[in-house]
Amino acid sequence: MYTRILRFAPSPNGHLHLGHAYSALLNADMARERGGRLLLRIEDIDTQRCRPEYEAAIYQDLRWLGIAWEEPVRRQSGHFADYADAIAKLEARDLLYPSFESRGEIAALVAERDRQGRWPRDPDGVPLYPGRARKMPAAERARRRAGEPFALRLAMDAALAQAGVLTWRETGSGPQGQSGLVTATPQRWGDVVLARKELPTSYHLAVVIDDALQGVTDVVRGQDLFWATAVHRLLQTLLGLPEPAYHHHHLILDADGRKLSKATQATSLRELRAAGASAADIRRMVGLGR
Ligand code: GLU
Repeated sequence: MYTRILRFAPSPNGHLHLGHAYSALLNADMARERGGRLLLRIEDIDTQRCRPEYEAAIYQDLRWLGIAWEEPVRRQSGHFADYADAIAKLEARDLLYPSFESRGEIAALVAERDRQGRWPRDPDGVPLYPGRARKMPAAERARRRAGEPFALRLAMDAALAQAGVLTWRETGSGPQGQSGLVTATPQRWGDVVLARKELPTSYHLAVVIDDALQGVTDVVRGQDLFWATAVHRLLQTLLGLPEPAYHHHHLILDADGRKLSKATQATSLRELRAAGASAADIRRMVGLGR
């Protein structure tokens, strides 16, 4: 029997709320029940939005909740070289291409496509990449890449052809109750961005590399990331990385049935603590009380 390794992986771009508390406590409970280990990972690749004071607040809030994690904590911003290595591997297999359109140009292209019938959206509701950069002649590509900002995209068709049929084992449930062996459909995301000129990774790539490097066996996270798992399975397969089991949990919703946001003060753990709530109260509020 191997040791299970779980992780809680917040982004320090705001204060933790009840939804994070649920995810962190569930990870901690599952690690304890399975005699496993719990890691904490700080997902701070977005250097514009992530701040050290939010990171410090994460440690404080988690400690207050009674959660213990192993040191050292892995911070993604310290590991750009690992992500760049993976990008180089995918490029060597001709699975990436640079695109050069600005946000505005992409929006205009989508509007044009929408006029001919609704252009497809990804599971998060974002239009798939509508451009033609993949067909750009090699010389033009090389010249523009040397000077202009660019996004490195996964050539989804080629990637799928190399990876074949993809599945994952779901021990929680998807938004429509999916569980057990789930068939992954990464094509729903189109040619996803895996890196940019100034940043050698994206959320999808960093999470997959880190889960592998940290030996994570069980990914326990919110249902909002259920569909993203398809992209993660594709990248794991292309990069020869092990496949963890996935457990997507329900989201804690506000009184109006909406997903909690870091912008809403009312459910932030610090506000609740300041208002006199105890860690046991938080457990009860997220349905993990005993
Ligand atoms: N960093 C992500 C978030 O805060 C979670 C990533 C994951 O668990 O895979 O939503």
